Amino acid sequence: MSTELDLSRRPAKTAETGPVNLSGLSLVKLRERMEELGIDKKKAKMRAKQISHWMHNFGVTDFDGMTNIAKDMRAKLEQNHIVARPEITEHKVSVDGTQKWLSKFGPGIEAESVFIPDVARSGALCVSSQVGCTLSCTFCHTGTQKMVRNLTAQEIVAQVLVARDTLQEWPTPSENRKLTNIVFMGMGEPLYNLDNVVEAIDTISDCEGISIGRRRITVSTAGVAPKIPELGARTNAMLAISLHATNDDLRDEIVPINKKYNLECLFDAIRSYPDLSNSKRVTFEYVMLKGVNDSLSEAVDLIKLLKGMPAKINLIPFNEWPGSPYKCSDWETIEAFAEVLNRAGLSAPIRTPRGRDIFAACGQLKSESVKKRASEALKEKLAKKEDPAG
Ligand code: SAH
Repeated sequence: MSTELDLSRRPAKTAETGPVNLSGLSLVKLRERMEELGIDKKKAKMRAKQISHWMHNFGVTDFDGMTNIAKDMRAKLEQNHIVARPEITEHKVSVDGTQKWLSKFGPGIEAESVFIPDVARSGALCVSSQVGCTLSCTFCHTGTQKMVRNLTAQEIVAQVLVARDTLQEWPTPSENRKLTNIVFMGMGEPLYNLDNVVEAIDTISDCEGISIGRRRITVSTAGVAPKIPELGARTNAMLAISLHATNDDLRDEIVPINKKYNLECLFDAIRSYPDLSNSKRVTFEYVMLKGVNDSLSEAVDLIKLLKGMPAKINLIPFNEWPGSPYKCSDWETIEAFAEVLNRAGLSAPIRTPRGRDIFAACGQLKSESVKKRASEALKEKLAKKEDPAG
């Protein structure tokens, strides 16, 4: 007996086998999927909108709940599709209310997301755009993890859906939300994954779905200068720059992408970011590293550098991680640094470290599997020190 495979019935693949997950897909992708199912163009657009509304406004995770879609259509969808969340391999809640999720998107593909509640009566979700990072900033834990791969737009959106599930914020609340803001400040460099970040922002900001406005979405970059104006033009999101140094010599060392795009080049790009104004300012992140970038003369240099730019500064106390080569500046030093900036009329709040106990603070994110290897390496190093013959 011979059997023939009917390839025409094979679902479009996200994984090699199995049904296609629609959860987190953009309207464009959903419409394409509907057209692939043989639905005519006009209807496909409408179906895509309906399904997106159920998934991203109501948070449903099965087709049964999609009550305004005819039963036979639902049955047809069910044959080859699912509405699924990623597997959560870790979920931790800090004593300060910060929460961290590790989502598994495939074998060895894990990314972290962190929810930081109560920031001025709002809550921000910090999402990852890549698994690992290519940048190797010397103070960043994620930077010691090898680049694994870009996350897809669907995987970026999934991080928001997972947080909404835990926070029980379905359907999308119109007021008194816990999750109000999204920051692309997790693992990875968003501007090295710009197409997927743009698509994810389209879905996250869709007012009939997750509905988090573009002004409440911030994308942080270490300084991929040529992509900065493009980010603005394609997303209208808020821009944050991981600055951390006021001169090229130091920035070359601690944020090595500076060797490719130096401060002059970076600031030219920032000035081309669309619609900058006092109500749409650029955030400059500045991590406080003891004895490295925290002198008062550097605060003065920072003022000069930001002259004429609609800017606010976020001073981030350095979060230490096992084996980190820096210490956090003393609290008095950070306050004195902030004071110099404030006196020059610059807004420079000191970011309270959140979620340190669950290893969820800035720059501490790193997938568990690699974390173990790093700690093993550290143990070996220490063992060698104890045994000089070794
Ligand atoms: N690659 C992007 C997105 C990551 S954002 C970027 O660099 O902007 C993560 C933020 O946390 C960046 O500002 C980064 O510089 C900062 N950071 C990294 N390690 C840190 C640490 N150990 N302590 C405090 N902040 C850190």
